[in-house]
Amino acid sequence: MESIARKRMWLSMAAGAAAVALLAAGWVAASERARFVAGGAMVNVGYELQDPIEDFEVVDHEGMQPEAIWAELVAQNQLASGVRKHFPRSSRHPVIAMVVCMDARVDTVELTGDTRKYYYMVRTAGSVIGPEEVEMLELAVANGVKVVVLTTHSDCAAEKVAADPEKRRLYPALSAGIDERDLRIAAFLKRPAIAAKLASGDLIVKQMNIDTATDELVKPDH
Ligand SMILES: [Zn+2]
Repeated sequence: MESIARKRMWLSMAAGAAAVALLAAGWVAASERARFVAGGAMVNVGYELQDPIEDFEVVDHEGMQPEAIWAELVAQNQLASGVRKHFPRSSRHPVIAMVVCMDARVDTVELTGDTRKYYYMVRTAGSVIGPEEVEMLELAVANGVKVVVLTTHSDCAAEKVAADPEKRRLYPALSAGIDERDLRIAAFLKRPAIAAKLASGDLIVKQMNIDTATDELVKPDH
C-alpha cells in the first residue's frame, strides 16, 4: 500500500510540475487552448491529491452518524463557497444539455474535461427522463441549447433493479421508468418544438453510453 501511496505522490508531483509548465506556457502564448489544457491538468492534480484520501471527513466513515456527516458537508461547503466569494466564476450560456444517471461514480466534469459552465447536467435515477425533465430540456433548447446528449451508463443499479423480479416489487416506479426509457426519449424527439429544430438542423440529439470506470462516452449497444 505504501508503495502505491508513494507512486501516487510522485505522480501527483509530476502532474503538478507538468501543470505548472503547461500553465506558464499557456500564459506566455496567451493561447486559450493552452490555458484550457493547463486548467484541466491542474484540476487533475486536485483529483490526484484528494482521490486517494479515504479517512478524511465524510467519505465512508463506518459508524459515522448522519448529523456528523451533514456537519462535515456544511463545513466543506463553507470552505469551498468562501473561496468562491473571493474568486467568482464566469457565468455561461449553456449550449449543451446532458442527461446522466445519478450514479456517484459518473463525474460529469471528468466526462467533459471542462470546468466551465457550458453544460446543463440533468442527473436522474437510471437516466430516465420524466415529464419535468422533458419540459426542462425543451426550455433549455428554447434558451439556446444546440446539442442534447441522452446517456445511459455501464453497471447501472437502476437497470439491475429493473432486471430483477424481486427488486422490481420493491422499486416499481424505478423499474417502470427503465422499461419506458426509450419510449420517453422517442416522445421527447416528437415534441413539436424539438422536432422542428431537429428538422432545421438547429439541434442534434445524441444517445450515448458512459463507461462508468473511465467516464468515456461510447456508442450504445442497441
Ligand atoms: Zn445508473
